[in-house]
Amino acid sequence: MLSTEKKYEIFQTRNIEYSGQFYMAVKTTGIFCRPGCPARTPHPENCEFFESAKAALTAGYRPCKRCHPMNLPGEAGTLIKNLINLVENDPGRKWSEKDLLARGIEPSTARRQFQSRFGMSFSAYVKGRNLARARAEIAQGGSVIEAQLAGGFESSSGFRDAYSKTFGAPPNKAGRDPLFVDWVDSPIGPMITICSETALYLSEFTNRKNLKGQLDKLIKVYDRPILPGQTQISQKVADQLQAYFNGALTKFDLPLKPTGTEFQRRVWDALIAIPYGETRSYGELAVAIGNAKAFRAVASSNAKNGLAIIIPCHRVINTGGGLGGYAGGLDKKRWLLTHEGQPSHY
Ligand SMILES: [Zn+2]
Repeated sequence: MLSTEKKYEIFQTRNIEYSGQFYMAVKTTGIFCRPGCPARTPHPENCEFFESAKAALTAGYRPCKRCHPMNLPGEAGTLIKNLINLVENDPGRKWSEKDLLARGIEPSTARRQFQSRFGMSFSAYVKGRNLARARAEIAQGGSVIEAQLAGGFESSSGFRDAYSKTFGAPPNKAGRDPLFVDWVDSPIGPMITICSETALYLSEFTNRKNLKGQLDKLIKVYDRPILPGQTQISQKVADQLQAYFNGALTKFDLPLKPTGTEFQRRVWDALIAIPYGETRSYGELAVAIGNAKAFRAVASSNAKNGLAIIIPCHRVINTGGGLGGYAGGLDKKRWLLTHEGQPSHY
């Protein structure tokens, strides 16, 4: 159990690690927040803590409009976390519906949650992890048999088939290098990242429209399969995003591989040049790339950014101060701008 002092400190430091675990209500305003809320922390004697959002509501408090304690669960579901741990701790195992039911997990729920979280079903996730393990074994100089065992494949022909289908070559050849999809929790909703061993290809909120279309595009453009797993880069991305959300990082330092036309990449470079805590209009961004008339094309390139937060398209607003658009949802854009110290009148 956390002490009241500790809970208060978590709010003061905007620590998102506790998002979803408890809530703080403010007696003077009648509003309650989740850990990580960018609003100024009130005096401790005006604060009251609750174990759930429902309890705060029942006590008569209203949800904060800045951190949205009701609508934007920042934590990965417990079910997904438990399943991922099971898969990691029992490499190569095949998970049947019966295994899940034996652990009190409804298979259709697992399928749906993995689909919305990773763009793939639970069984595709398990299969992808096993193939990734087999691949890693080969990359480390293991034999085909060792790779087959590492991936939990019972028959060598089944292994060769699955391997060739995914990597475009049999296990003794190099074939296509995979990209790895990983998850990141944020105070404004779950995100996924897609990384190679050397660069970040995608970072997105999972509620973004047509997320699957973006994944399919990457697979096609780079001719590489996407498997669940982490690389050194995805760990770096997760660390830096976490630091950003905690307010400890204002500038990302990551190798990026954005996918787009030359014009789009010029717009994205101009976005990266907008400092934390500042905004630009679409027109100003067009001027920045030396083509003042191209503001419509600039706006559309802005919307096609596939590296949410890291390429800060949220820092572009309408002339006159209107919020403009955001693929992940305007409530997220509002939160990000407020978090970066912009006035909250958007
Ligand atoms: Zn709040």
